[in-house]
Amino acid sequence: MINILMFGPPGSGKGTQSVTLAGKYNLLHLSTGDMLRAELAAGTPLGKKMEAIMAAGELVPDDVVIAMIAQKIDATTGKAGFIFDGFPRTVEQAEALQKMLEERGMKIDLMLVLEVNDTELMDRMKKRALVSGRADDADEAIINNRIAVYRAKTEPVIEFGRKAGVSRSVDGVGSIGDIFGRLCAQIEAIL
Ligand code: AMP
Repeated sequence: MINILMFGPPGSGKGTQSVTLAGKYNLLHLSTGDMLRAELAAGTPLGKKMEAIMAAGELVPDDVVIAMIAQKIDATTGKAGFIFDGFPRTVEQAEALQKMLEERGMKIDLMLVLEVNDTELMDRMKKRALVSGRADDADEAIINNRIAVYRAKTEPVIEFGRKAGVSRSVDGVGSIGDIFGRLCAQIEAIL
C-alpha cells in the first residue's frame, strides 16, 4: 500500500491533482473538505454543526476529521493505497494519521508539497469562486483567513513530514499537465 499526502495552501491545486493521481495509481482519493461538504449538503447533524466553522474558513475539530478518515480507510478494499487531500491540516492530525496507519501495517510514504505564491493563490481562488458555489470561496476576507489558518496551523505539518523524511517540494505554478508530470516523477521515485 502507498499513502501519499497532497499538501499545499488553499487554491494550490491539491484537489485537481489528487483526482488525476488517484486514477493513475489506483489510489482512493480522500478529501476531508469534500466529505464535510457532503455532510453539509445532506443536512446531517454533523454537517449543521460544522457549517459556520467552514463558512468562516476556520478548521473543524481534529477528532471530527480523524474519525472520518479512519472510517474510510477501514471501509476500503481493492486499492493500491490512499491519497490524502486537505488532511492532515494540523500536527495533531498528522500524528493521529501516522498512528492510524501504523496500527494497520502501513505508513505515510510521501508528502507532496505544492508551492504557490500568495498572489497566484488569490487569483486562482477568485476564479474558482465563480464556479464552485462555495461560501468560503466567495469572500476575499474569508480567503485571506483560510490562507492565514494554513500558515499558522497547517504549515507546521511540513516540518513533521521533513522529520519523517517523506516531504518533497513541488513547483505548483504552470500548466495542470506540467504540474501533474512533476508530481508523477516524485511518486515514481519511491515506487
Ligand atoms: P477544503 O475543501 O480542503 O479547502 O476544506 C474546506 C473546509 O473544510 C476548510 O476550510 C475547513 O473548514 C474544513 N476542513 C477540511 N479538511 C479539514 C481538516 N483536515 N481539518 C479541519 N478542517 C478541515
